[in-house]
Amino acid sequence: MTTNSETAARTPLPPSRLPAVGTTIFTVMSALAQQAGAVNLGQGFPDFDPDPALPQAVCDAMRAGHHQYPPMAGVPALRQAIARKVAQLYGRAYDPEGEITVTAGATQAILTAILAIVHPGDEVIVLEPCYDSYVPNIELAGGVAVRVALTPGTWRPDFASVAAALTPRTRAIVINTPHNPSGTAWSADDLQHLWEVLRDTDVLVIGDEVYEHMVYDGHRHASLATHPGLAARSFIVSSFGKTYHVTGWKVGYCLAPAPLMAEFRKVHQFNVFTVNTPMQHGLAAYMADPAPYEGLSAFYQAKRDRFRAGLSQTRLQLLPCEGTYFQCVRYDGLAVPERSLDETAFCQWLTRAIGVAAIPLSAFYGDGRSQGVVRLCFAKRDETLQEALRRLARL
Ligand code: PMP
Ligand code: GLN
Repeated sequence: MTTNSETAARTPLPPSRLPAVGTTIFTVMSALAQQAGAVNLGQGFPDFDPDPALPQAVCDAMRAGHHQYPPMAGVPALRQAIARKVAQLYGRAYDPEGEITVTAGATQAILTAILAIVHPGDEVIVLEPCYDSYVPNIELAGGVAVRVALTPGTWRPDFASVAAALTPRTRAIVINTPHNPSGTAWSADDLQHLWEVLRDTDVLVIGDEVYEHMVYDGHRHASLATHPGLAARSFIVSSFGKTYHVTGWKVGYCLAPAPLMAEFRKVHQFNVFTVNTPMQHGLAAYMADPAPYEGLSAFYQAKRDRFRAGLSQTRLQLLPCEGTYFQCVRYDGLAVPERSLDETAFCQWLTRAIGVAAIPLSAFYGDGRSQGVVRLCFAKRDETLQEALRRLARL
């Protein structure tokens, strides 16, 4: 038996489609956290189990014999449950037949939407800092990512800059609210401003709303689905991974008006074709009860408040958190010399020396700029957060 590295035959290597891309920061930091025995507040995932009723519903679906391919667009009962939820929360009726597709997580939905609409040379606006998959997705489609900065310091959208970035080649804009990594959330006014910028164009919108059920302090999630003008030109993406504490299941969905969804499905059917059957049935049954997603904001707000109270006892400086399960902190006011490290080096030091893993905000910027800010994930058991706070108190 020979291994690939021992073989005499040459492996031809084409030029990379993504020459600037390495392994994602989330994978890198989780590996470092494990190696260092650190509390992992880096990669965004809960360290607690979902409601046992949800895996039970999946087991029931398996026992009931749901093992073969479901319809390409998803199990009808799940699409109907999604339609009911969206209608109830955002007042917009999406047709489960032609306007809702179940996807392998939000990641596949976003890539599929981009591949469906972006032609080589098309420009797609992203608002920086942005989730790390958007720009490589645009580049895989042959498009050009146009980076527009969110307002420095507050991460509020700057609609004059968005308007200034529009050209005849602009195909789409990707927005994300509540926002990873900053924890900010758009208001209904923000949607209206976006509409005013886009109204007289044919620019499409891809809305990453995976944190839709984590919005705090009595605010409501400003879904694109609530704005008739924007909804008519939007792909809206969400993820059951976030909502039901099952990030490893990789099931999400996309909503779009029928003509856009028809193009989406052309790509989807030749990408994954469809998504695993028993989980779709399990999710459909579980969604009959709205309490789990209706109660999610209160659940995470309580965690956020306990975590922020603990952090306020450290020298880290808290930034606002309006949504998501991420809390950003400034570290440039610490007493330790490492306060002047760049964000990546600081996160490595924090993981190794203090025993808490975090994510550098620089990972969400194309130029990798460092602002002295890191992201901590509070989707953790209270004991985990307490242990992290105990360690961070040493700073
Ligand atoms: N978008 C954002 C903003 C995210 O934070 C994540 C994952 N954390 C995703 C998309 C991907 O979601 P999924 O795991 O469902 O693919
Ligand atoms: N979205 C998660 C985060 O921001 C990580 C997902 C991933 O590891 N790709 O932490």
